Amino acid sequence: MADRDGLIWLDGELVDWREAKVHVLTHTLHYGMGVFEGVRAYETDQGAAIFRLQEHTDRLFRSAHILGIPMPYTKDEINEAQRAAVRENNLDSAYIRPMVFYGSEGMGLRADNLKVHVMVAAWEWPAYMGEEAKTQGIRIRTSSYTRHHVNITMCKAKANGNYINSMLALREAIDSGCEEALLLDNEGYVAEGSGENIFVIRDGVIYTPELTSCLDGITRKTIMEFAANLGYTVQEKRITRDEVYIADEAFFTGTAAEVLPIQSLDGRLIGEGRRGPVTEQLQTLYFDQVTGKRDYKPEWQTLVK
Ligand code: PMP
Repeated sequence: MADRDGLIWLDGELVDWREAKVHVLTHTLHYGMGVFEGVRAYETDQGAAIFRLQEHTDRLFRSAHILGIPMPYTKDEINEAQRAAVRENNLDSAYIRPMVFYGSEGMGLRADNLKVHVMVAAWEWPAYMGEEAKTQGIRIRTSSYTRHHVNITMCKAKANGNYINSMLALREAIDSGCEEALLLDNEGYVAEGSGENIFVIRDGVIYTPELTSCLDGITRKTIMEFAANLGYTVQEKRITRDEVYIADEAFFTGTAAEVLPIQSLDGRLIGEGRRGPVTEQLQTLYFDQVTGKRDYKPEWQTLVK
């Protein structure tokens, strides 16, 4: 990805894409102590609009606070950096990646006297699992890797190092012929996907795991709000893997994954084994919302120009 035209926002300036480099002794590269966000901008009638920008920036700052990383910029500056990264690369739609990381001033775990850097890149990233998955759903497997424990890594932080666990689980799932992993928490209850929150539907009620050991997803929150507005009961509760086996429908949510139906878990078809009616209803609302086709909550869109 490094060898391409474009501009990346790095420490307050837009620099040439190929020149946005760090030293090999960059502290975060060694220990994974950094925080990031995944944000999307969508093409709307009024131009590219970033979806729920403020919420993503707020979470980035919360993540940094949890890890004790002092943020060298204000939230307004980071919002503007994200707008600039889309606008200055002439993107109609984009995936936006802000990341906060330590510099190369020292290697000790004390991590004192290190400079805090911030970068924001934006590029085109179409449907995470391909277009067909949006209707056909994906096959997932229960991971042999346990999701983070609340006292081992900080689950409320979107921290770089947390994603080792996600990548191990995803690799295992792909190697066994699936598209995604379902991670269970340390007590054996359903937590989330490698980069998505999960919902299951049974007898018209929508369930999702409590936030104990999964990320407080912005798409999750959006979908819960839509579902409540439609009159569905949405319940946060502990969910077992066999509750997913016998669900009528299940889907993942995430900024990258959007609203993604789940076809099967561990080889057991879920419902009809493709996108169910409730999933379709919520997915349609989601895509209409992010592309500015609804009047609901226009404040969720931030135009880049
Ligand atoms: N869980 C994990 C582990 C994730 O990485 C993500 C993606 N940020 C999500 C859930 C979904 O969060 P969001 O809807 O805010 O993108």
